[in-house]
Formats: sequence, structure tokens, C-alpha cells
Amino acid sequence: MRHIAIIGSGPAGYYTAEAAQKLWGNEVRVDIVDRLPVPYGLIRTGVAPDHQQIKGVSRRYEATALSDNVRFVGNVTVGRDVTVAELRDEYDAVVLATGAPSDKPLGLPGDDLPGVVGSAAFVGWYNGHPDHADLAPPLRGLGAVVVGAGNVALDVARVLAKTKGEFGGSDIAGHALDRLSVGGFGTITILARRGPHQIAMTPKELGELDHLARAIPVVDPADLPPIEADAALDPGQRKSVGHLRRFATRIGGKPIRLVFDFYASPLRIEGDGRAERVVVERTRLDAHGAVVPTGATYAVPADLVVGCIGYRTPPIDGVPYDAKLGRFANDEGRIAPGLYAVGWARRGPTGTIGTNRPDGFMIIDHVVADLRTDGGKRGRAGLDELLAGRGVEVVTFRDWRRIDQAEVAAARPGSPREKFVSVKALLGARA
Ligand code: NAP
Repeated sequence: MRHIAIIGSGPAGYYTAEAAQKLWGNEVRVDIVDRLPVPYGLIRTGVAPDHQQIKGVSRRYEATALSDNVRFVGNVTVGRDVTVAELRDEYDAVVLATGAPSDKPLGLPGDDLPGVVGSAAFVGWYNGHPDHADLAPPLRGLGAVVVGAGNVALDVARVLAKTKGEFGGSDIAGHALDRLSVGGFGTITILARRGPHQIAMTPKELGELDHLARAIPVVDPADLPPIEADAALDPGQRKSVGHLRRFATRIGGKPIRLVFDFYASPLRIEGDGRAERVVVERTRLDAHGAVVPTGATYAVPADLVVGCIGYRTPPIDGVPYDAKLGRFANDEGRIAPGLYAVGWARRGPTGTIGTNRPDGFMIIDHVVADLRTDGGKRGRAGLDELLAGRGVEVVTFRDWRRIDQAEVAAARPGSPREKFVSVKALLGARA
């Protein structure tokens, strides 16, 4: 019998469990440990609440979770309730699938002013993540600034722009819906430090901006490269740029302007005791596509500033860490004998949810190639003994299904669920 511990129950964790199951069948026992009492990580609290179709992938993870040899061990924090060293003693392999839940800081003067938040916190807030339920961001004013030109920036801008009615069918947290529906900004500005050809946004997500009830996407035609240059782009990027070209031809008529400000790099955030404006420097690209500051600056009104410039994996005691890259130090997922990283904890916050599947399978290939022991580890029996000795209250998958049912029962009309947004409330919903 092989015993694998996977830390983190998001996509990378479940795909790794699936890979182990496919390889060893009934000859493996997998424990998926999560610090929250609920599974699915990024699917539950990262994917936008109005992207329910994407969230549907959790049904696939449920199939893995419900098999006899995979167990969910929720409400257990590795590094606090149990150490990585202890897990390595008890399991043949320990796989860190902890994602990248911390914000890469903007690192600008004024980024500590009230009204400046990172996307992990902001997205966590509207998605009901217990860590961020109390965020209370400002949601009303002349302007909001979203820094970054990736899909997270698009999610944040779209959520800020939508009306209450447009969240029908979503599982946005009630506290966020209540506050967003009485708020609103005249202008939502997406600051992209490079140009339209360099965006990290995907076509489907950009196309959604065409259909917003009260907001219109705005692109300055002068920012667009000559149309012939689009031929050099890959088909997906060409489609994205096509959306931007169409936005550049649209004329007003809706109350909110969602402005793409290209060649715009934030310099500092200013305001009297809170964020009021972002001072931005105009940039240009050199022959190699690198950002060059031009010295020309201007101010963009901003009661809210959301940094959407990437994420980091928090370190765990005793695990080698690459502070520059913000993830575990690893070689193709190998950290140390019997210790691996997978998904965003391995490669950083890139790719789609599906990218984590080959990642999980690769890690299990490594585990097989590296196995030196011939069994004899205690696996879950050892973990249970440690946790019981420390009085840790473990949440099982069966408990999660009760929480799930309670959330579904509490849903407002048309919504799939109303999430419980504190660990206490989640634990209380098991009964
Ligand atoms: P991302 O795709 O890496 O985009 C980050 C953006 O931030 C880039 O435009 C980058 O510009 C910019 N940036 C980085 N540092 C900056 C700085 N110091 N100042 C100004 N701008 C800065 O990251 P993400 O948007 O967080 O998304 C993470 C991953 O999740 C991506 O793979 C994304 O596709 C995925 N995702 C997918 C969906 C979806 O499919 N619906 C939704 C959300 C997220 P440069 O390019 O100039 O560095």
C-alpha cells in the first residue's frame, strides 16, 4: 500500500489524487488536507462567481473525492496542526498543492492607504473566502483603478461594473452583492503597462464586456498597433485584440466607462488618509518589448485601487522557498526526497485550471520514479493519531456534503448557493 498526502484541495490537489488513483488503483491511500473546512480551493473562492460553468469542474473532483481510497481532511493547517516533517514521516510522498493565495504587492508609495487592495483579498471578499469576508472595500465614487492586464483584472473590472440583476445565477457572496448593488464608480480604469498586443486576457472573457448592462468598454484607437501587425499574433491573442479593436469603435451611451488605459504604469497612490488618485506614468515599449518610462505623468481618480498583478505561494516552515519567485524552490516539482510541489505552488500562477491536470500526473510519475521505501508507512492512521492527540477538529468529505446542502438550502432565489463566510459558520453547518 502507498500513502500519499496532498496539501491543498484545489484543482492541482484533486488532479494529483486522480493521477495516483489511476496509477495504483486500490493500492494507494490519498489524504487531501486543507486548512479550510471546505474543498476545491480556487474553484470555490478564486473563479468568478458569474462563471458558474467553470466552477462545474468541481463535479469531476467530487468523483475522485467520493472514491474509497481518497479522503478529505479539512480544517487542518499544515505548519500549525501538523508539520511537513511529520507528514513526511508518515507518508510515502507529500505533495504541496497550496496554490498561490497571497497578493504580489504593488510596491508603490501609498499602497498602504485605505482603499488599496490586492486581487486575492478583493476576489476572496466577493467569493466569500473566510480570510477576506471582512474586507469592506470602498465601492462608490468617481473612479476605480484596476492594475494589470490579465484575466483577474478583467474579473475584477466586470464584477465592479455589473448590476445586481447581472449577478442572477451567480454564487457571489451576499455581503458583496448587497454592497456592490448600492455602490458604483463612474469610471473603472484598467491600467496596462504595455500595449494591446501584450495583454494576458483571453478572448472569451474580453468578449463578455460587450454585454454589460450599465458599462461600456472604452479603448483609445490611438493605442492600437496597425491592423497588419495582428497577423503575427497567435489566433487566441488575435481574437482578443479584435475585441479591443471593436471596443475602440464604440460610442458611449452607458453610465459607466470601463477604460483600457494602455502604456500606463502606476507610480504612486495619493490621497488624504485614503486612496483618491493613482499617479500614472506613460510608457512605451523598446525594440524588445520591454517597458520604458517616458516621464509624462497624469492622475487617475481612484477611490478603490485593486492590484491584479499576480500571486505568491506563502512559505511553510521547513520547506525550501524561492522568495524571488514567490513559490517553493523545486526542480520540476521535486523539492526534497518524498516532498513535491504541484500546480501554482510549483510553477507560479499561470495557465488555466486544466493546466494543473498534466502537472498532477507529472508529479505522480516523479513519485513512482523516486520511491525508495517498500511500504510500511502508516499514512492516515499516523495522521489521525497526531491530530487526535492535538485535539484538532477534522472536517470530512461527508461533513462537507452537509455544509454544501446547507449552503444550497440558504441560496437566494436563482443562486446556486449562499456561502457561509466564516470558519465558525462552516463548522456549525455540519450538523
Ligand atoms: P497574469 O495573467 O499573469 O496577468 C498579470 C498582469 O499584471 C499582466 O498584465 C502584467 O503585465 C501585469 N503586471 C505584473 N506586474 C505588474 C506591475 N508591477 N505593474 C503593473 N502591471 C503589472 O495574472 P492574473 O490575471 O493574476 O491571472 C493568473 C492566472 O489565472 C492566469 O493564467 C489567468 O489566465 C488565470 N485566470 C483565468 C481566468 C479565466 O479563464 N476566466 C480568470 C482569472 C484568472 P506584464 O505582462 O507587462 O508583466
